[in-house]
Amino acid sequence: MAASQHRPNNTSSPCVPMWYARMLLHLVPDGELCTRCRRRGLAGPISTGLINMGDSYPLTRTNRVRQLGEKASYDREMVHRVLDAGLVAHVAFVQDHGPVVVPMIYGRDGDTVFLHGARKSRVIRLLEETEQACLNVTLLDGLVLARSAFNSSMEYRSVTVFGTPRLVEGSAAKLRAMRIISEHAMPGRWDELREPHDREIKMTGVIALEIDTASAKIADNGVDDDEDDYEIPIWSGVLPITASIGPPVDDDRLLPGVEPSDIVRALQNRKI
Ligand SMILES: Cc1cc2nc3c(=O)[nH]c(=O)nc-3n(C[C@H](O)[C@H](O)[C@H](O)COP(=O)(O)OP(=O)(O)OC[C@H]3O[C@@H](n4cnc5c(N)ncnc54)[C@H](O)[C@@H]3O)c2cc1C
Repeated sequence: MAASQHRPNNTSSPCVPMWYARMLLHLVPDGELCTRCRRRGLAGPISTGLINMGDSYPLTRTNRVRQLGEKASYDREMVHRVLDAGLVAHVAFVQDHGPVVVPMIYGRDGDTVFLHGARKSRVIRLLEETEQACLNVTLLDGLVLARSAFNSSMEYRSVTVFGTPRLVEGSAAKLRAMRIISEHAMPGRWDELREPHDREIKMTGVIALEIDTASAKIADNGVDDDEDDYEIPIWSGVLPITASIGPPVDDDRLLPGVEPSDIVRALQNRKI
């Protein structure tokens, strides 16, 4: 869209509809509304607050993907789909003014991501105290072998979530969250297992991370080489990466004659 088409709606506020349309088309440059608003020194919606995009997570300065924006999505369903497909979240927070990242198992219920750990572990104590946390879930789908190192990359589905963590309290609420986490990785298994002991529930710290906003980035379109490089006689393409759950391996102390249940067998061969 040419800058000349832009019509600021008044002298003191930026042209939000025009910015919004361009943003959806991925035409908006980094952190800006449009050339004319920028020249006039007007603050854009990204720098002043949130833009709500229907059934999408709010777009903020924090969650907006800047590079390769065409691969980005803020769609709630897309974010949930990647979260539901993943097994491990890398959870980030700040300790003593420095960043820390910890990989954790998780589960999702609506717009809440549940995490758990030993009640006294650093990660649970810090998440309990902090006002903001961030986590990322990434699934690798392929190695993209381009004709140059610069254009070589990976195919992936990746989600970053920003939220407000709170400690889940009370046995019933904790148990529910623990079940959600267990069922995320091992669907159907919870009901096969013995009931958690009270002391196990007490020893477990459970965090509910309410999703304030999120972003997804999906790279799935293979090689994108420089036009001149297509003349280079070198193999180029994608080597798919497939993570799947393999066949059961018996525990050394399995009681004689005990076979994997249908639930366990259903987990087998699951693609991640
Ligand atoms: C497996 C894998 C390997 C990667 N390797 C590299 C690498 O080696 N070098 C490199 O520069 N980039 C790499 N990336 C891409 C990287 O994650 C960022 O997307 C990239 O650095 C560009 O970020 P940005 O400047 O657009 O956004 P930033 O300003 O860094 O981030 C702004 C916001 O955009 C969102 N965002 C950014 N990236 C992602 C993402 N991947 N998934 C979900 N939300 C995201 C987040 O909400 C973030 O807070 C890799 C991604 C994946 C999944």
